[in-house]
Amino acid sequence: MKIKRTALLTLVILICVSLCGCDSIFGSNDRYYDDQYYDNYYDDPYADNHYYDNVPQLVCHYIDVGQGDSEFVELPNGESMLIDAGPAESGDTVVNYIQSLGYDRINYLVATHPHSDHIGGMKRVVDSFTIDNVYMPKATATTSSYQNLLKSIQSKGMRITTAKAGTKLLRHSQSDLKAEVLAPNSDSYEELNDYSVVIKLTYGKVRLLFMGDATQVSENEMLKKNKNVSADIIKVGHHGSSSSSGEQFVKKVKAQFAIVSVGAGNDYHHPHTKAMNRWKKQGTEVLRTDECGDIVLSTDGDEFNIDTAKGG
Ligand SMILES: [Zn+2]
Repeated sequence: MKIKRTALLTLVILICVSLCGCDSIFGSNDRYYDDQYYDNYYDDPYADNHYYDNVPQLVCHYIDVGQGDSEFVELPNGESMLIDAGPAESGDTVVNYIQSLGYDRINYLVATHPHSDHIGGMKRVVDSFTIDNVYMPKATATTSSYQNLLKSIQSKGMRITTAKAGTKLLRHSQSDLKAEVLAPNSDSYEELNDYSVVIKLTYGKVRLLFMGDATQVSENEMLKKNKNVSADIIKVGHHGSSSSSGEQFVKKVKAQFAIVSVGAGNDYHHPHTKAMNRWKKQGTEVLRTDECGDIVLSTDGDEFNIDTAKGG
């Protein structure tokens, strides 16, 4: 029975991926192998569709900001988190996207590191929303986008909390919902990318990893410190560059899906084939924002569903 259920799931995934491109992909964790669950599925074909019950959802929007990064998370406790805000030219896109979801407040704003493709649009975000908590790594930049962001934060009287390995982002503890910072693990790095705040968000059994632009230097530190990096979905480091997604790290993460936030025809030739092949070799499905547009993951903490704005 288990095999049949697994085969059915595989078939559904294959049909979705092959016929619909990026449009709709279903994921699962080990619950699919549960006999009880299997029996329920056949008693009621809609038993696995949690949109029919009242379990709070976590929804993560990997916003298509071109060559940059921005993820907005609707937490199941009613709070929200924004990780990065793309480049300056995407500031309006990010603000409009979040407002269209009905939010005028962001509880947790995280700037993974002060590169303009991550914080360029953040001044517009700070100016447009009520922000409760701002997290940044202990790294500075002399760029105008960074300086302007700091001015906006100061003018609203907000304080910045330093994020480093071990920081817990959520103010209200909840046993089935955690947002833990896994990196940075050192005080100084040669490259600004390695200051990236790496976040592991866990809701029930579903684990999401957000890498910022962390390279293999930071990945190896996490492995050395035995950080639990395993995840179902990873937003891969540094737009799929081969300086990130090292072989050992990829093996440890063991993700079902790897999301690459990247602009079409970008000057950096991101994502790099080498890095993508490391994920594929591990059996991970790669989804790219330049091909899929906005990517939206919904989960009830048990199963997850991925929808995309366009095929790819
Ligand atoms: Zn970047």
